[in-house]
Amino acid sequence: MGILNMAISSIILVTFSILIFTAGAAFLVLSLIEKEKRAAVRAAMITVPMTTIYLLALLLPDKVQLAIILVSFSLMVIAGILFFVPTRVQQAEFNQPTDQVDEREIIFARARLEPGTPLYESYYRDHPHQKSQDDASREQTGLLSPHARFMDPLHRASAVGSFSLTEALREAVDGPISDEKNQSSVEDLTKTVKKLAKYYGALDCGITVLKPAHIYSHIGRGTGKYGDKINLDHTFAIAFTVEMDFEMTGYGPYAPEVMESARQYVESARVSIQLAAAIRDLGFPARAHIDGNYRVIAPLVARDAGLGEIGRMGLLMTPLQGPRVRIGVVTTEMPLDPNSYRGEPSILDFCRICKKCAHNCPSQSIPKGEREISNGVLRWKINPESCYHYWTIVGTDCGRCLAVCPYSHPDNLLHNLVRWGIRRSGNFRRVALFLDDFFYGKKPPSRGKTFLP
Ligand code: SF4
Ligand code: SF4
Repeated sequence: MGILNMAISSIILVTFSILIFTAGAAFLVLSLIEKEKRAAVRAAMITVPMTTIYLLALLLPDKVQLAIILVSFSLMVIAGILFFVPTRVQQAEFNQPTDQVDEREIIFARARLEPGTPLYESYYRDHPHQKSQDDASREQTGLLSPHARFMDPLHRASAVGSFSLTEALREAVDGPISDEKNQSSVEDLTKTVKKLAKYYGALDCGITVLKPAHIYSHIGRGTGKYGDKINLDHTFAIAFTVEMDFEMTGYGPYAPEVMESARQYVESARVSIQLAAAIRDLGFPARAHIDGNYRVIAPLVARDAGLGEIGRMGLLMTPLQGPRVRIGVVTTEMPLDPNSYRGEPSILDFCRICKKCAHNCPSQSIPKGEREISNGVLRWKINPESCYHYWTIVGTDCGRCLAVCPYSHPDNLLHNLVRWGIRRSGNFRRVALFLDDFFYGKKPPSRGKTFLP
């Protein structure tokens, strides 16, 4: 009987060591594939001693072996209860801005005002409190300047190549509508636009009823006359995401990050324009909303279309790529079946404890405190002025917040298991944050300054 017990204990201990070794080796290999050196080293640091401990336990007396097995099983059960039994979390509030936003007041529109022009003079006459900070940004070398701190001619050329295409596409957001209106059912039209968006290259696609709060009140950029009131009488907005490359975003705040950012602005513009043109060919008005030529607030539309939640850094957080996406929007009068806002309270709860973006933001533009009411919405409000000011110094769009976010890890089995646990359990959210800090660092380093030679 004693020999039988010893044999069973030995089998269990060997099984433990094989499981630990396999899981650790798998994480190590995955980390190497993801070029996460620190995570790979730490995986090895944990896997080797733990595997060795279980193997060495084979040399111990059978009573000690039994004790080790019981403690291990107990820890596994406690971990399972702690991490995977769902815990209650406060529901996300579905609140809408009370006032429309005037696009002329956003930082990207203000940055285009040229000193000495009538537009510049009249804008700052009405908004004197914004003038000194905006002028201070104008005095820097500027976004995409070859002389900026983190910019160089090769990376700049790549970003300019992409941004020039987005600029050219701004004229293509609208166009003629077919006289023949397609008579398919609402259900079929809805399925068609969602399938088409993904076929053209979108990751995810959702639809919302277009609300006044989604629409800018006045034109600040893009086609149309600056300052004109926006009359967008479409009934629905189709929002979709395109993925930013995980490795490239890791270069932020250095130049390769803006290469990727610019490339994905092109992608989201291309998909929007293709989708809008397809809808017009089916006989319904449709307008694409692309970088520099929006009539709507894209993250808000995407949130209401069920694509994710707005996190601490003020960007859309999607379930599988976190903030590592760009958003495209098409508004239309095509009859469609909207999605309902899915609200993801676990993202808000995770953002509440995480603060990694805020601690890594080089310009301290992301709040570290609780959400506050801003224009009728309970949210974290970043400081767009100080963020943009930093961009004008370094010459890139930075993206450090996006690179360090624990939700930005690649969409694969391991990270999706963690995301699954994060959604279910508040305890697991805390452990996941600890593990993210342990394996990837509280202040993960950038991948470097250059991607090109
Ligand atoms: S880094 Fe953390 S706090 Fe910031 S958006 Fe991501 S999850 Fe939220
Ligand atoms: S882009 Fe950079 S400067 Fe702006 S909020 Fe993110 S981390 Fe901060």
